[in-house]
Amino acid sequence: MDERGNSPVSRPSGATRPAPRALLSTTRHWPCWKKTSRGTAIELLASANVDGLRRTRPILLMGGVHGDEPEGVRLAEETLRWLLTAEAAGETLCPWLLIPCLNVDGFAADQRVNGRGVDLNRNYPSSDWTTTSKGERYNPGPSAASEIEVQGVVELIRDFNPRLIIHCHSWEPCVVATGDRALLDGERLARASGYELKPEIGYPTPGSLSRYAWHDLRIPVICIEERDRHNGLRDLDEVWPRFALGMQEIFRDLSDRGAKS
Ligand SMILES: [Zn+2]
Repeated sequence: MDERGNSPVSRPSGATRPAPRALLSTTRHWPCWKKTSRGTAIELLASANVDGLRRTRPILLMGGVHGDEPEGVRLAEETLRWLLTAEAAGETLCPWLLIPCLNVDGFAADQRVNGRGVDLNRNYPSSDWTTTSKGERYNPGPSAASEIEVQGVVELIRDFNPRLIIHCHSWEPCVVATGDRALLDGERLARASGYELKPEIGYPTPGSLSRYAWHDLRIPVICIEERDRHNGLRDLDEVWPRFALGMQEIFRDLSDRGAKS
C-alpha cells in the first residue's frame, strides 16, 4: 500500500520459503488455479475438498496482492505451513482458502502492479470503483474487475462467501480491520505484533478489497501491513514470529464471526 515512488532500497534478505505441498490431494490444491495474462500460474490451496468447503464459509487469506511486498507472501506461506502442521497434528481449525501469491507477475518483477500495469487492490468491482487514480502505481485498470487475478478472488467470494478475508501487505506497520466483525481478529493480530489497529487505512481506496467485500457485501476484511524494507524490515525471517500468535488464535476460533448465512 505504500505511497512512495520507486526506490533503490532492495528486497529484504531471506526467501519466501514455500510450505511443503507434496502430500496435498488434488481436491484441495490447485497449483494452476488461474493463469495470468502472461500465462503464469496462480496457486490456490484449501483446508478440505472444495465441495465440502462450499457450505462452511471458510476464511480466505492471500498474500502478494502487490508484487513488491514479499513480506505478505512470506506471511501467507508461513500461515499455510502452520495450518498444515496443526492439521497433521489433529487440531480442528476454521476452514480456509489460501492464495500464497495473487500477483505472481508483479512479484517476479518486484513491482506493485500486475503484468498489465494494474493495481489489483484498486480493480475490485466495488460500488465506488473509478477510473480516477493517484498515479501509475494505483492504476485501477480499464474497467472494474478487468484483471484475471481479481476475477478469481471475486469468484471465490461469490462461491464460498467467506466469513473473513485477510490480505497480507507491507508498508508502514499497522493492522487495518474493516467492519465491526473484523475487530476481534484484528485485535489478535495487533496484540501479537504490537502494531496499531486501525478501522481504515486513512486515505481513499476506491476499488479496493475492503471497499468491495465489506462496504458492498458485508464480509469483514483485515489488511495486514507488515513493516516493509523502507520501514526497517531487514529479513523476511522477522515476519512470522510477529504474527504467529495472532494467526493461530484466528484459525483456532471456529465461530462464524457473526456472519449471516
Ligand atoms: Zn500492498
